[in-house]
This record gives sequence, C-alpha cells and structure tokens, in this order.
Amino acid sequence: MDGGIVDSLAPKLAIDSGACGYLTIDLAALCRNYDKLSTIVAPARAAAVVKADSYGLGANQVSKALYERGCRHFFVAHFIEALRLRPQLRGDATIFVLNGLLPGNEAACADGGIVPVINSLQQLRQWSEMSRSLHRRLPAVLQFDTGMSRLGIPPEDRSAVAAHLQTSDDVDILFIMSHLASADETDSRQNGDQLAEMCRVATEFPQYDVSFANSGGIFLGGDFHGVLARPGIALYGGAPTSGVANPMEAVVRLEVAVVQTRTVLEGARVGYGGVHVTKGKTRLATIAAGYADGLPRSLSDRGAVYYDGVRLPIVGRVSMDSTTIDISALPEGALSFGSMVEVLGDHQTVDDLACDAGLISYEILTSLGHRFHRQYR
Ligand SMILES: *Cc1c(COP(=O)(O)O)cnc(C)c1O
Repeated sequence: MDGGIVDSLAPKLAIDSGACGYLTIDLAALCRNYDKLSTIVAPARAAAVVKADSYGLGANQVSKALYERGCRHFFVAHFIEALRLRPQLRGDATIFVLNGLLPGNEAACADGGIVPVINSLQQLRQWSEMSRSLHRRLPAVLQFDTGMSRLGIPPEDRSAVAAHLQTSDDVDILFIMSHLASADETDSRQNGDQLAEMCRVATEFPQYDVSFANSGGIFLGGDFHGVLARPGIALYGGAPTSGVANPMEAVVRLEVAVVQTRTVLEGARVGYGGVHVTKGKTRLATIAAGYADGLPRSLSDRGAVYYDGVRLPIVGRVSMDSTTIDISALPEGALSFGSMVEVLGDHQTVDDLACDAGLISYEILTSLGHRFHRQYR
C-alpha cells in the first residue's frame, strides 16, 4: 500500500478548497489492475470501459493513465461521452460507443473519428449510407444479442446483416462483439448458453474477430476472452465475481469530515422522521456527506463508517448533505469536529458499502459526489 494513502487516515483538519471530504483515486492501483487483467487475457488485449465518467472516477484522468499503460481501446456508452473524451486522447486510441448512434449523429461521429457499435440492421444501413456519401470506408463494430435482450442485432436479423455485408463493402467492421448478462455468477447457466450462441455468430461471420468478456467474463476462462476484453468495474477495484475473494486492488478511498459531535441521553431521536431512538446515553457525530454526495439513503440505520479501524454505525436517516454516526465505541475525545472518518478505504470496500446499502458497487461508484476534494495519485 502506498505510504501517503495510509497516512491520510490520521486525523486531518485542513480541507482543501472548502470540500467536505477527500475522494482519493489511486491511478497506480488502477494501472496495476489493468496489468493484471491484461495478463489474464493475453494474448488477447484488454480495453477499458470508461462510460459514466469512468464509473464516476473521472474519464479523462482514468483514460489518460490507462493510455500511458498501453491501453488503446476505450468504450463509452453515449456518443456525447465520446465527443468529450476524443480530444483528451491521442489519435492511436480508439473510442467506441456501446449504445450506438441516435439518428442524426452519423456525420458528427464520422467527423470525430469515433467508432459506433452497431446494434441493428437499421444502424448498419445508416452507417453504410454515411460511408458512401463521404466516400470513406467508415469503421464500426457489430454487436450481436446472444441472450441478454438489451442491445445488439437479434438472431433473426443475422442473415440480413450478412447479406448486407456481402453486397456492400462500404463499412469497415473492426470486430464483432456481444455482452454477458451473468458473468459475475460463475455458476450461471446463462454464461454457457451465451458462449454457445456467440460461437454460432462467429461461425456465421468467420471473417471477424470477437470481443466478448466484461470484468466477470475475464474470470470465466479463455473461451470467453476473444481478442479484446472489455473490463470496467474490475479496473476500478470492484469485485468481478460475486461470492469469491476480490482479486482486484482498491482504487478509491473516501474520507469525510466530522462537522459536529454531541452526547445525547436515552430516548433521543436522531435524524429525519425520528426513526432512530437512542437506547442509552450515546455519543454521536454528524459527517459532511449525505445522499447528494453518494451515500445512498438505503444506508439509513444500516452500515457504518470507520475511524482508527473502529466501526461507527450509521444511525437515523441519511440526509441530503449529512449523516449521523454513533461514535460511542471510540474513547471519549478520540474524534472531534474536523476529524476525517473513512467511508471507503482499508476497512470498508466499495462492495462492502454496496452490500450494506442493498446496491451494487457500480451504483456506489457512479454516485460519488462532486463536493469532495478529488485527488489523483
Ligand atoms: C458496461 C459494459 C462493460 C463493462 O462491464 P463490467 O461489468 O463493468 O466489466 C462491457 N461491455 C459492455 C457492452 C458494457 O455495457
């Protein structure tokens, strides 16, 4: 563990730029996660899924760090994300738009040198038309639905797509892809079913390479790797597979400032609705982060934060900008106004917090607020 990050657990009064806490994003850990995933999928390559602002961690910083590390394939969800990221990366980095193009965006996409993931016959026809009108063979990726029923060319349209590609060669198909619905569940039958369907697609389109695995898929074995894996959550330190030890390194650390402490007697009501009533004399602290900062309201009267390794339960409802914790487990005076408590760090992972909140790590990361002082290491 990097010394500076461990040191930051010590009580700290100064808060840079008036922020209510420190959100630390460890780009070195991110890069080590990328290396680890790259090693597992080799000789296939690992792309980086940087949609939703790199799961809330900052698409520009994350993408630049991963580019330096050798990553050249970046996937976003929406075209607007690609437009924003494109000027940040060198020309030999390719940006793919997973959701494909909405009607009318074709010219801007071609102009921006961005690669759409084509999810339907109609999109393929539109991209072909744009290619013809520009007299350029525009690049694209074809996504096939192998059983998730979300995005991609459905099985019944495969022959029409094949026919289109036979008669018109105006689109440069870089590879074909599909997405797994249950890759985090090693035992799910859906993985094998989707793999079998992907093999059928690959037989029907033998001229193209395949991209298949997300984070979970990388850990399902070599059959799932294709030529280009598309990890997201595992890069950011989330567990790729549920129910087993997480092999990835934590990337995010969140410390939040205490804005007030108090001692209340038995029977005191805490927070909105007075839903928490103290059972005895209790020492409380209010921390400067609430649901507007990404501490989900479902943590009301559930879950905890840590100080000096001591678990401090959340009591009462999580408010918009603050949350109250029970600090009775600490020695009197150990924590005071201005102290920093750990929300994410050595004692609590993103998956731990998500579990207490009844959510998934993806939701915790993508909800992290913008009122923290963000620091990249
Ligand atoms: C979001 C997404 C990924 C990344 O998924 P993780 O589970 O975060 O690794 C990969 N491929 C597609 C199509 C996606 O939508």
